Amino acid sequence: MSKLKPTAGHISDPHSEALSDLFSYLESSAEGLSQSEATSRLQAHGPNALPTQKRAGWLLRFFKQFHHLLIYVLIIAAVVTAMIGQWIDSVVILAVVLLNAFIGFIQEGKADAALQAIGNLLSPKTQVLRDRKFVCTDVSSLVLGDVVSISAGDRVPADGRLLAVNGLLVDEAIITGESLPVEKEVGRQAKNTPLIEQVGMVFAGTSVTQGTAMFVVTATGPMTQMGQISEMVSGVKRLTTPLVRQMTIFSRYLTLIILSIAGLIFLAGEWFPHLGGFLSLSDRLMAVVGLAVAAIPEGLPAILTITLAVGVKVMAEKKAIVKHLPAIETLGAVSVICTDKTGTLTCNEMMVRECWAGDRLFQVTGTGYAPTGDIKCLSQSDAQSWSTLRLIARTSGLCNDASLHQRSDAPQIDESLSAVWWVEGDPMEGALLSFVGKVEHASVEDNKQSDQKSLTEGWERIAMVPFDAKHRYMATLDRDPLPNTSGECLSWLHVKGAPETILDLVKDIDVEVWRERIDAMASQGQRVLALAVAGPYICDETLIGAIQSKEFVSQNLSLLGLVGLMDPPRPEVGDAVSACHQAGIDIKMITGDHIKTAVSIAQQIGLPRSDQAIVGSDLDAIPESEWAELVSRTTVFARTNPSHKLGIVQALQAQGLTVAMTGDGVNDAPALKQADAGVAMGRTGSDVAREAADLVLTDDHFASIVAAVSQGRTVYENVKKVIAWTLPTSAGEAMVIIFA
Ligand code: ADP
Ligand code: MG
Repeated sequence: MSKLKPTAGHISDPHSEALSDLFSYLESSAEGLSQSEATSRLQAHGPNALPTQKRAGWLLRFFKQFHHLLIYVLIIAAVVTAMIGQWIDSVVILAVVLLNAFIGFIQEGKADAALQAIGNLLSPKTQVLRDRKFVCTDVSSLVLGDVVSISAGDRVPADGRLLAVNGLLVDEAIITGESLPVEKEVGRQAKNTPLIEQVGMVFAGTSVTQGTAMFVVTATGPMTQMGQISEMVSGVKRLTTPLVRQMTIFSRYLTLIILSIAGLIFLAGEWFPHLGGFLSLSDRLMAVVGLAVAAIPEGLPAILTITLAVGVKVMAEKKAIVKHLPAIETLGAVSVICTDKTGTLTCNEMMVRECWAGDRLFQVTGTGYAPTGDIKCLSQSDAQSWSTLRLIARTSGLCNDASLHQRSDAPQIDESLSAVWWVEGDPMEGALLSFVGKVEHASVEDNKQSDQKSLTEGWERIAMVPFDAKHRYMATLDRDPLPNTSGECLSWLHVKGAPETILDLVKDIDVEVWRERIDAMASQGQRVLALAVAGPYICDETLIGAIQSKEFVSQNLSLLGLVGLMDPPRPEVGDAVSACHQAGIDIKMITGDHIKTAVSIAQQIGLPRSDQAIVGSDLDAIPESEWAELVSRTTVFARTNPSHKLGIVQALQAQGLTVAMTGDGVNDAPALKQADAGVAMGRTGSDVAREAADLVLTDDHFASIVAAVSQGRTVYENVKKVIAWTLPTSAGEAMVIIFA
């Protein structure tokens, strides 16, 4: 047992231990560690990070500055001039060489520091149980025995044994090479099970493609599978761009040409004495050296690097972090920006405005997320529609992963109530919780079935189907706390999702009537959700598995109604849109939302040609060869799934356009990689999207993308100016020497 003690930074074969043993080896429990215990373990085992490559010492870095063909030529020139006794020239050349090395050295140090700071800004966070509460901490501070929660889009922060899973799929390609996501479950495997079959474990560096889970950490940092398998530590990115690379190659040729010309001139004096014969040998040598020194643009690499590094810094101040230097140049060349709607163009502060309960339309008022406000029925209401409304509210509250909090430290004075409430989780789900509060309140006031005040209290979630942009619904199986007449507690399946999806799943409704209602809500820019319920069920194990299938969900699902949520456009977006228009940059909105909602928002922010809209299935219906034409004349893409994004980028690129594309989900990563400039969201985005992107926005605003593109253009112009200015002066100096 002692060999398993968590003193070595890991324990061996955690996949084959019984959970209770594992916890006792780890001196932990399902409740995780205390903060003080975690701190002392962190000191004992070191941070949860792979060792980074040692940075070269400053002396070595200084000498590296001389490792350049141009500089070699200059050093030889200095030696030659010294040999023929031209001391002053020799000293001047050496001074140039030293100065160049010095500038390069300092600049490289600055750029390194800037990149490091940016790396820290992007340092990943994770949810961990400490003192029995989930807190958000740096991944590097995880220790053995910590209990960690992960969900779709996260990168698994450490190796660990699963304690609970909810439809967990993990992409483990990075360590196993297996390209299909692996389905994980809680359990123990035989001791010699290969890594790829250890379904009860998760491994650091792999990414969660679907579902949620909790696990206990069994290895951190260098002791993880990732740390063991690979030396592929992603070191600091090389400070180079395509332009700088081209310049390096160019300067190599330039040096060769200059040396050949210099050599020819020297020999010409030898062979045709009547031409150069009046010059002594040493005079000729001097002329040749002078020519070489003058023609070589020794300052160019340093100046280019400075220009780029300054650009990175300015962009970071404008909330856009450039992860790879080459992206700066690309950003400057962007001709189309493909952007998300929710959160990027809109505030992502939602509020329920309308609700169709059965055949009655209710109107909801209030401010912010505060769960207080008015609900009134627009026509004659009856007891039936109020009870449907209560069912809708219960479904919204149970089929929900967000939580609503009241800020305890908020100033109590006349500060508006709305500022006091905030959402942890998806803002749309937060808005639904606030709606639940309003319905509970209204029911009590109107004295309608108010025997049971809270709509969701005591209900227990048994299982769930997480939301996924592909199928566009979420479902939970929840147990009613009140037993029925025969004393059993029954469960209900609560479903919410995109209305088209839900209409497809339910039977026995007048689809046309509901379509009209959906269209009317969406045309006002509201995001529409449909709510449905199925049951009751007697809960057993088979049921938990069964709800994962769409067929089962649709079996006896009945529609309750619709809610319409308002998400106003960001105030600064209008200006950014017109700035793009003036700069000749096209904007395309790509969203998973309803076409009418998308078009309405597009109109509100002033997107040109906002009526040119299609839905994702329109794209699927036409052959790929026709995509390019359709995509380039469309402004709004609605009800898209992530694979459409990839196709849209490719279609635009096929037309020779330089494309910037935003994304936040796991599934957006391929499109972000494909785009010339992939833009990820720093706040709401997933780790996977951030890693695939070239640019990360720290504030998620569309206006920041536009600022970054315009900064990119400035940098590009500056780089061109530097080249245009350095080369002719070098060439000019050479001319003076030849013809003087
Ligand atoms: P967007 O591009 O606007 O971010 P999403 O892909 O996130 O769109 O969502 C697409 C649609 O899926 C929404 O319009 C909504 O109808 C539905 N939807 C979004 N989030 C959830 C959720 N958590 N539960 C159920 N349905 C959802
Ligand atoms: Mg979204």
